[in-house]
Amino acid sequence: MAIISSRERSPESPLDASEAGRGLLQPQAQAGEAQEDSLRPRTLAEYIGQTELKEVLSIAIAAARARGEPLDHLLFYGPPGLGKTTVAAVLAAEMGSRFYMTTAPALESPRDIAGYLVRLKRGDVLFIDEIHRLPKVTEELLYPAMEDFRLDITIGKGRSARITSIPLERFTLIGATTRIGALTSPLRDRFGQVQRLRFYEPHELAEIVLRSARLLNTSIDREGAEEIARRSRGTPRIANRLLKRVRDYAQVRGNGHISREVAIAALELFQVDPMGLDWTDRKLLTLLVEQFGGGPVGLETMAAITGEDPQTIEEVYEPYLMQIGYLQRTPRGRVVTPAALRHLGYAGQSPPPLGN
Ligand code: ADP
Repeated sequence: MAIISSRERSPESPLDASEAGRGLLQPQAQAGEAQEDSLRPRTLAEYIGQTELKEVLSIAIAAARARGEPLDHLLFYGPPGLGKTTVAAVLAAEMGSRFYMTTAPALESPRDIAGYLVRLKRGDVLFIDEIHRLPKVTEELLYPAMEDFRLDITIGKGRSARITSIPLERFTLIGATTRIGALTSPLRDRFGQVQRLRFYEPHELAEIVLRSARLLNTSIDREGAEEIARRSRGTPRIANRLLKRVRDYAQVRGNGHISREVAIAALELFQVDPMGLDWTDRKLLTLLVEQFGGGPVGLETMAAITGEDPQTIEEVYEPYLMQIGYLQRTPRGRVVTPAALRHLGYAGQSPPPLGN
């Protein structure tokens, strides 16, 4: 998390008003949420949105089933909270397969990944989250495992060391990453399909909120769900989190029902921005306007002024800002749009001249 220094913070900056929705709008899972899977869809039909992806996957499922074969290895990428883990579990369920889930940082030594691989039966799904963080030795063990379903282990040390191959059952590896660019090409090339998850449209998020409210036995109307959806940064994890907070508010301050008015009052109380911007988005846009006249500015500069690393800017913050039309990529750099200026309270003004 970036620390903003007093030198960077100008007294008039809209940032000072609030660090709006800072925790609530983080797309990463938070304590207590990681294990929380009561709201996860279990079937492709229950999985809302990602229409093209679902179509591609249902074809892959039908084809594999018809051939009586396991699915090809699949790689999902996209910002956190969009449903990569969920869709992997759904695929395993649709194939009637067992689902093993792990994350790259937990696979420190070759022994860790070998432990999973030897246990897998034909058709089982092994899901590795954050796969771009695999240690090199672990990654290299995966190459023959993915390609030839073979585990190569080195026995002994030094001159007497020899490699023994253990045959593996034909399993499906599903990888997930927020940083497709950080994957090595030998690993990426071993996936039969590489699929991107995109941000959800507000109407899709509203469906997700309505479904989650049903599962949580919470009374909500469509307008209430739409209000929560609009502020959820195109991300189901955030939509579910906001729903739970608004539900608490409705219970304590109202009669338990979530209407548009109740949702607005709750989200304003929690300082959730009406467009779902979080503190870093606001900081980024404001600094671009105040220090660079709204741009164009290069990625490295944006990283330097916010204290975030360039990849996080490019893979977590920028995609959402571009999706809602607040930031544009031009050949000369990133530019803040008039819509963003209006949202940040620079209405009717043009950005200050360059060099200010
Ligand atoms: P990721 O692995 O991309 O970080 P997850 O799969 O953990 O994201 O999804 C986060 C939460 O969002 C899940 O708990 C699930 O309840 C919800 N979710 C994700 N995608 C969908 C979807 N398409 N429909 C309904 N809920 C979803």
